[in-house]
Amino acid sequence: MNVYDSGRMADAMVAAGYRETVDAGDADLIVLNTCHIREKATEKIYSEVGRLLPLRRRKPDLKIAVAGCVAQAEGEEIQRRQPAVDIVVGPQSYHHLPRLVARSNTGRPVSDTGFPVTSKFSQLPRNGQRKSAVSSFLTIQEGCDKFCTFCVVPYTRGTETSRPPEEIVDEALRLVDSGAREITLLGQNVNAYKATGPDRQSWLLADLIGKLSAISGLDRIRFTTSHPRDMSQDLVDAFAEYPKLMPYLHLPVQSGSDRILKAMNRRHTARQYIDLIKRIRSRRPDIVISGDFIVAFPGETEEDFQATMRLAEEVSFGRSYSFKYSPRPGTPAAEMPQIDGRVASDRLQRLQKLLKKQQHACQESFVGRKVTVLFERKGRYSGQLVGKSEYFHAVHAQVPPDLIGRIRKVLVVRSDPNSLAGKLL
Ligand code: SAH
Ligand code: SF4
Repeated sequence: MNVYDSGRMADAMVAAGYRETVDAGDADLIVLNTCHIREKATEKIYSEVGRLLPLRRRKPDLKIAVAGCVAQAEGEEIQRRQPAVDIVVGPQSYHHLPRLVARSNTGRPVSDTGFPVTSKFSQLPRNGQRKSAVSSFLTIQEGCDKFCTFCVVPYTRGTETSRPPEEIVDEALRLVDSGAREITLLGQNVNAYKATGPDRQSWLLADLIGKLSAISGLDRIRFTTSHPRDMSQDLVDAFAEYPKLMPYLHLPVQSGSDRILKAMNRRHTARQYIDLIKRIRSRRPDIVISGDFIVAFPGETEEDFQATMRLAEEVSFGRSYSFKYSPRPGTPAAEMPQIDGRVASDRLQRLQKLLKKQQHACQESFVGRKVTVLFERKGRYSGQLVGKSEYFHAVHAQVPPDLIGRIRKVLVVRSDPNSLAGKLL
């Protein structure tokens, strides 16, 4: 979502007369967009700003802004600690960025971390002035009301809100017009999407996917990140119903221990998660499932951890993201007795070994099979393009450069550590 937000901030600044540059030395404004989900991000901001100081000395008019969830959580404290930061702007108020930049010209530090009543989306300039990526993001939902005990999202992104379907369809049309072939619908809890449509009916994510499926020129739809509790049967069925919805689902589970899931306030059991995956696979047998895991949540015993290992064995994930629990200030779990760091590292290592093995097995199972690849960009070697298979694997192949933005059938010839090697058919 930060990638999407950064694009929208660029849109806002372009409308205010700025141009994008890839060279920091050229810039009049540098925005550091930040994530607060795990610790270290905050410290990284200060070291990044430190790296910009020589530039700032050469160019006193250069403005530095810190945006995103660290800005939201730390607020003006950032400017107290690092006076070189001119602007602090939270994830719900970045449509004010041009105004904040103008205000900062007085030389005083400026900050905006409010949760405005009207959504930023209605006030942002329409995208389209910039060329869209072949695979583009589109935020449809933001914030979260679930309050998992480890998570800062409800505090930094705010309460759950969904954008109206007509606004989303309009943005999707513009993305397709400016070059997108694939759209990933984004939300912290994307499958909790619920909004009133122009027909005054309540629209859920499956309805939206149906509507977007009708857009010609849009070939692929994905969505992330989902919560198991909000995986309605309609949405499960959508994987069988809509050919444009790609057979890949990221569905975080966090733990395989019911005791820990309860302490996390996840509101589902390990069995419910496993049964849900079975239901999804019965509708779309080839679907690749990926997950998120947290090890060493406060109170996690070796037995709890073994339950997570067993869940992973039973589900078999095609890809996963796993983390050591990281205490976040202001969240309930941060107040609980913490697990020793060495125990946490050891568990993470054991889990990652298993998950890596599963990822490799999944990739190997594609060798000798045909996949369809949407080519997105040039690869590392000359003559090579990289794209994504329908199953979200990165696939590289020797193909002409004019295939960027096109979908082709590719034979998978080899599985590399994080990608597949393919041959154009
Ligand atoms: N809404 C999604 C996840 C959003 S956060 C869900 O409910 O599953 C993305 C991932 O970051 C989470 O799935 C979790 O695995 C990880 N994460 C969040 N807070 C964390 C913390 N305090 N420590 C470690 N990992 C965390
Ligand atoms: Fe965080 Fe996801 Fe839980 Fe919401 S549902 S609090 S975003 S982990």
